[in-house]
Amino acid sequence: MMDYVFDSMGEDIIRTEISELGEFGLINEIRKDFKTTNSSTVMGIGDDAAVVECGDQLSLLSTDMLMEGVHFDLSYVPLMHLGYKAIAVNVSDIAAMNGIPQQVTVSLGLSNRFSVEAIKELYKGISAACEAYKVDLVGGDTTSSGAGLAISISVLGITTASQISYRNGAKKSDIICATGDLGAAFVGLQVLEREKQVYLENQEMQPQLDQYEYIVGRQLKPKARMDIIHELRELNIVPTSMIDLSDGLASDLKHICFESKCGAVIYEDKLPIDKGTYDTAVEFGLDPITCSLNGGEDYELLFTIAQKDHDKLEKHPDVHFIGYIDEAGTGVNLVTKNGNTVEVKAQGWVHF
Ligand code: ADP
Ligand code: MG
Repeated sequence: MMDYVFDSMGEDIIRTEISELGEFGLINEIRKDFKTTNSSTVMGIGDDAAVVECGDQLSLLSTDMLMEGVHFDLSYVPLMHLGYKAIAVNVSDIAAMNGIPQQVTVSLGLSNRFSVEAIKELYKGISAACEAYKVDLVGGDTTSSGAGLAISISVLGITTASQISYRNGAKKSDIICATGDLGAAFVGLQVLEREKQVYLENQEMQPQLDQYEYIVGRQLKPKARMDIIHELRELNIVPTSMIDLSDGLASDLKHICFESKCGAVIYEDKLPIDKGTYDTAVEFGLDPITCSLNGGEDYELLFTIAQKDHDKLEKHPDVHFIGYIDEAGTGVNLVTKNGNTVEVKAQGWVHF
């Protein structure tokens, strides 16, 4: 018979802090104990979405949770934007598999701080995002929460065996591409945090956000780059690997290298940084390059293409060639503007 002990928290004698492993280490710890056994499971833990065989198509399944106080602060995030963002970040994981999103479920943990009106506001954003990304809301779950708001969304998407892009397909000499611009969401968050402090000190002060509209918008209203997915299809390009930039370029490129068993070289002068992001980073005493490497939540796409596809994408205004895939064991390296090579350290988004 098992002995039940109150408050044991699964600990025996050894206790390892989650912060020692980090999010990635913890997931790998879980992953190594689970082998998939059903033949329909094509990809389990380890990519942006799980992949399941479904007739002659592949189903994609992904889930993401947003926690108040960790992922969002309702003192400056309007509920409608939060609803939109919660859908967009899930759709982004389907995009990252080169798939098309179809259905979502939305589960909420609600404290009694929230009114019906507040939840309707949240759902206005959810509804707008469902319309924008052409996904159907098909269910969910509602429960009370001790404190704060938790939103957990699952998304189902579809793709085919010939279209799918995993994190593990990058090959030596492939070109590394990043869409849009990087670091804006992180720098936008710094602006929002500063304005919150100003407001807390003097409640007559209203936030001065006009000049920061673009970067603040990148934090509050991220877009999933489904437009790029459709364009890649029109151009007949299947990325050899792909991930969405949720944790930051450094960390997410490392995921591609880890899964693809390869190294990477990126060029400082090729990193796409918006001028407002650059100037605001400097204003905050932050290095814009570090922001573009380690700032999370841009939800742009990072992918690799074979050399043969170079010409098809070369002139694309929103896809930037930032480097190339190198041999295994070389790590992820940044060539600086003055020609030095430095190893990229991933700080990523640290929740623990
Ligand atoms: P993303 O940033 O693209 O959402 P994550 O870093 O959250 O990806 O997750 C990476 C992989 O680990 C995914 O396959 C995800 O399903 C899996 N994963 C994350 N958390 C858990 C967990 N608690 N249990 C099992 N698998 C998990
Ligand atoms: Mg992802």
